[in-house]
Amino acid sequence: MRKGDLPRANDFAARLPSHDRTDTIIKRIFVRETMITVEAALRTIGKTAVKPRRETIPLGLALYRVLAQDVVSKISMPPFHKSAMDGYALNSGDASDAFRVIEMIPAGVVPKKSVGRGQCAKIMTGGMVPRGADRVVRRELTVEENGIMRLLGRDDSPNICRRGEDVKPGDIVLLRGSILRPQEIGILASLGAARVDVYVRPAVGLIATGSEIVAPGRRLSAGRIYDSNSFSLSAQVEGCGAVVKSRRRTADSVTAIRRAIASALERCDLVLVSGGVSAGDLDFVPAILRDLGVGLRFERIAVQPGKPTVFGTRRGKVVFGVPGNPVSTFVVFEVFIKPLLFRMMGHDYQPMIVRAALTEDFLRKRTERAALVPVHVHEGAVALLEYHGSAHIHALGPANGLLYVPRGLKGYAAGDEVHVRLLS
Ligand code: AMP
Ligand code: MG
Repeated sequence: MRKGDLPRANDFAARLPSHDRTDTIIKRIFVRETMITVEAALRTIGKTAVKPRRETIPLGLALYRVLAQDVVSKISMPPFHKSAMDGYALNSGDASDAFRVIEMIPAGVVPKKSVGRGQCAKIMTGGMVPRGADRVVRRELTVEENGIMRLLGRDDSPNICRRGEDVKPGDIVLLRGSILRPQEIGILASLGAARVDVYVRPAVGLIATGSEIVAPGRRLSAGRIYDSNSFSLSAQVEGCGAVVKSRRRTADSVTAIRRAIASALERCDLVLVSGGVSAGDLDFVPAILRDLGVGLRFERIAVQPGKPTVFGTRRGKVVFGVPGNPVSTFVVFEVFIKPLLFRMMGHDYQPMIVRAALTEDFLRKRTERAALVPVHVHEGAVALLEYHGSAHIHALGPANGLLYVPRGLKGYAAGDEVHVRLLS
């Protein structure tokens, strides 16, 4: 077939060996027309075997990576009794009127002297509390003159962080599977970890199909639209901490799509194909996947948007075909692909779901699919947004969540408590 040829899907089936053709026809009848529920799709995806691999990397490169082992502290935190204030260290049993300042203890310096009766040591925040002292009086409550300190008031707090009060040697500080956010990076550094064991970032291949799609930056000729899916998918993949290893944009050509998918399957752990999965004459992706030996686990989900989503595996590699409308692509990634991608990195992803009250009625005509609708949640109220359907990517701009409407439900009335899946 020449480059740019646009065969019909049936012509494509006709070119397959006869057993493949039968297979194709049977699957078209028995699989493609069967929608599985959102829950069943998630279960099927959740059962797919994945083998996260480990690597050790410098802590400075570990942001948003997933920990591959529990982190056990070897040290106490703080490692010594530490002053929490700038002030004077003394013994709380000492009722003297005046205290001789015997030493000045900056942070990082080991005290040389022991504090006795009628004595104190000037100490800075972070300084090591000297022997003989069990409290630090804040500087604001004291006056010092000629090396003698007098108390002006009472300080109720001892102002000492005691050795090991935060963490003791042997404490499990972070759990395997945790995402290393800035705060976990700080925790690891506080324990002296220079390197950290994390899971390898899966390699993802992206293929955007469609003879009408044009790369941003190019001129938009009549009948064409910009390819937004390559970029939104790429950003979603990278937002999870995975790596986009290959990106391809292809026309609706069996040869081009087949070549792109075959190459991505060789090089990547997960392949995402946008467009070409619906019922149109030029929607070749499911047949091509089958022809490449990908075992399709489902080809329809009872969800709106996202119904023609295709999911399959081949020799440990995973493939999704997602409908090309940009909101469909985005939502299918959020709901179905993200949990698997995180699992490939050893992390059990749980979406943030909030319950809040809808500000107006939401009604729909058909109920055979679950729906995910862009909304804006603020202070316990869920507002619907102008939304023209799955091509309307601009509706996602003001959205910070997706309202979940279960299958079989016509909608909600204003004031009903609803479930919203938060978008980051
Ligand atoms: P398809 O799933 O191929 O039937 O495409 C459904 C709709 O999504 C069509 O209007 C396409 O033009 C549009 N579409 C497909 N791919 C993309 C893309 N990469 N970026 C933006 N829109 C797309
Ligand atoms: Mg298309």
